[in-house]
Amino acid sequence: MHVERITVIGGGTMGNGIAHVCAQAGRTVTLVDMDQDLLERALGTIFKNLDRQVKKELISAGEKEAALGRISTVTSLEDGVAEAQLVVEAVPERLELKESIFTILDEEAPADAILATNTSSISITEIAAFTKRPEKVIGMHFMNPVPMMKLVEVIRGLATDDETTQTVMELSRELGKTPVEVNDFPGFVSNRVLMPMINEAAFALMEGVAEAEAIDTVMKLGMAHPMGPLALADLIGLDICLSILEVLHRDLGDDKYRPCPLLRKYVAAGWLGRKSGKGFFGYER
Ligand code: NAD
Repeated sequence: MHVERITVIGGGTMGNGIAHVCAQAGRTVTLVDMDQDLLERALGTIFKNLDRQVKKELISAGEKEAALGRISTVTSLEDGVAEAQLVVEAVPERLELKESIFTILDEEAPADAILATNTSSISITEIAAFTKRPEKVIGMHFMNPVPMMKLVEVIRGLATDDETTQTVMELSRELGKTPVEVNDFPGFVSNRVLMPMINEAAFALMEGVAEAEAIDTVMKLGMAHPMGPLALADLIGLDICLSILEVLHRDLGDDKYRPCPLLRKYVAAGWLGRKSGKGFFGYER
C-alpha cells in the first residue's frame, strides 16, 4: 500500500521530528496535540530544524516551504485521524495513555488504516490488543533526533501481518531511513542493549567510580561512541530512560535491569536532562 496521508499524534520531541521527515518526503501530514500552544511550539521546532537544513544546503528554501505547507495541525484526535492511511502515535510513555489513544484510533481512523506506535518499550502486542485490528498495529520506533538519525526499528506484534510490515518498511525507506525488522520483546533490540549501558553509567557515577564527564569521555574515546551514555540519557530524557528500565525490569523479571537509585532521584527532582535544563549535565535554556 502506498501511504500518502499520515497523522502524527503528539508534537513533542519525537512527534515533531516524525512530522518533519514525513512532510519532507512529500506526505500530507496532520499533527495532533492537546492544545494550540503545543502545536505552535512543535511547528516552531520543525521550522527551525528545516531552516538548519537549508543553511547546510541539504535542502532548498523552496523545499522547506513546501514541507511546511504539507503540515496541518488539529487539537481533536477524532478529526485528525478521519482521513489517515497511517497514524504514528508519539505521546508520553504511559500504558493507560496509549490505551485511551488506541481505543479512539480504532474507532475513528479508517478501517484499513495502519496504526503505528513510536513506543520505546511498551509491548506492541499489548497495544494491539486495545484494538479490533491487531494485524494492522505495528511499532515504528524512530530515533532521536528524528531528522538526523537513520534507523527505524520496525517491531512486529504477535498478530502484525506481512502487508502492514512491508508497507511500513517501504515507507521508512522513502523517508530516507533504514528500517530494521525486529520482534516484539521488552525493549526490542535498541533499548534492550542501550538502557543497561546507560543504567550502568549512572551506577558508576553514583558509586563514585568517576565524574560524569570522565565516564562519558571513556566511552567516547575508548569505545568510539559519538556521545557518552550520560549525555545520551540527557538527550533522551531521564524520565523516559527510567520508564524504559522499569519495563525491562518488570517484564523480563531480572534484577540486572533494576533502575539506578541516582536516576530515580534525578527524575524525582525534575532533573530530566536537556528538556528541563539539567540532568547528568547542565544546559543553557
Ligand atoms: P514528549 O513528552 O516530548 O512529547 C509527547 C507529546 O504528546 C507532548 O507534546 C504532549 O503534549 C503530547 N500528548 C500527550 N497526551 C496527548 C494526547 N492525549 N493527545 C495528543 N497529544 C498528546 O515525549 P517524546 O520524547 O516525544 O516521546 C513520545 C514517545 O516516543 C514515547 O512513547 C517515547 O517512549 C518514544 N520515544 C522517545 C524517544 C526520545 O528520545 N525521547 C526516542 C524514541 C522513542
